[in-house]
Amino acid sequence: MGGTRPVFPRSRGHFAASRPQGERGGGERDWAGMWDARAETPPQFNLSSPQAETSGGNELALVVHSRLCRVYKCPIAYFSQRDPLSELVSAILSHRTRNAASGTAFKALRARFPAWEDVMGADIAAIESAIAGVTWPEMKAPRIRALLAGIHARVGALSLDFLADMAPEEARAWLEAFPGIGPKTSAAVLSFSTLRMRALPVDSHHHRVARRLGLIGLKVGLAPAHILLLAQLPSSWTAQDLYDNHEILMMHGQDVCHHNRPACGRCVLVDLCPSAVTAMREP
Ligand code: SF4
Repeated sequence: MGGTRPVFPRSRGHFAASRPQGERGGGERDWAGMWDARAETPPQFNLSSPQAETSGGNELALVVHSRLCRVYKCPIAYFSQRDPLSELVSAILSHRTRNAASGTAFKALRARFPAWEDVMGADIAAIESAIAGVTWPEMKAPRIRALLAGIHARVGALSLDFLADMAPEEARAWLEAFPGIGPKTSAAVLSFSTLRMRALPVDSHHHRVARRLGLIGLKVGLAPAHILLLAQLPSSWTAQDLYDNHEILMMHGQDVCHHNRPACGRCVLVDLCPSAVTAMREP
């Protein structure tokens, strides 16, 4: 794998879109390390074995994590320095929207309305105008204003910093009580924001790789995947460990395990993956 490192196109998942360009964690890929990792003796899995049950995690999930961490260089630097409320608004703006456009819209919104109270009291048309560059601004503008009003009504202020005093499960349940906030967004707010709490977001790339590897069933949806994949990781893992797990699976989905024509021939997980042969035969 010597010589020039390949450049791969970036798909625009919900979470990837929320990252400032050029600030995605992990730095340069260790493509040479990919081959080193694959050269290891393939582990023999018995997921019902006492070893698997006492290891504090799913054996396959741990091997996947270890190999991908070598490629993408864990620990991954946190890409966001936003407070949790800003991260929540950013997540809404980034849905189905390209990185540059959602970042520009977030900045435009903050420039036009320096305080979140200003957004809560603004005309929908003015909010929509500020975020015009994102997909569906006519839907996102009223949603953002309603969400801010709902948070203010429940908290008495426009801040989510108090979530730091809750257990992660409690904080996620609090967020998910609002219409339109699901497990992906609640986990992203806890993990990506300055809260830096233990949570495992699962975006579309992470979800696809997990299904192909057999970590979860092929028909398991995104919401239940959050519960199943988190349960496979040791309860002793830190917020950084869980963040790394999400990031490396997301990046592997973007760089190697593409939605169309996954590059199984250069995948460090090929000897573990029940989908490899099928995926390589796809036209
Ligand atoms: S072997 Fe192929 S299908 Fe399996 S994880 Fe790697 S790229 Fe994806």
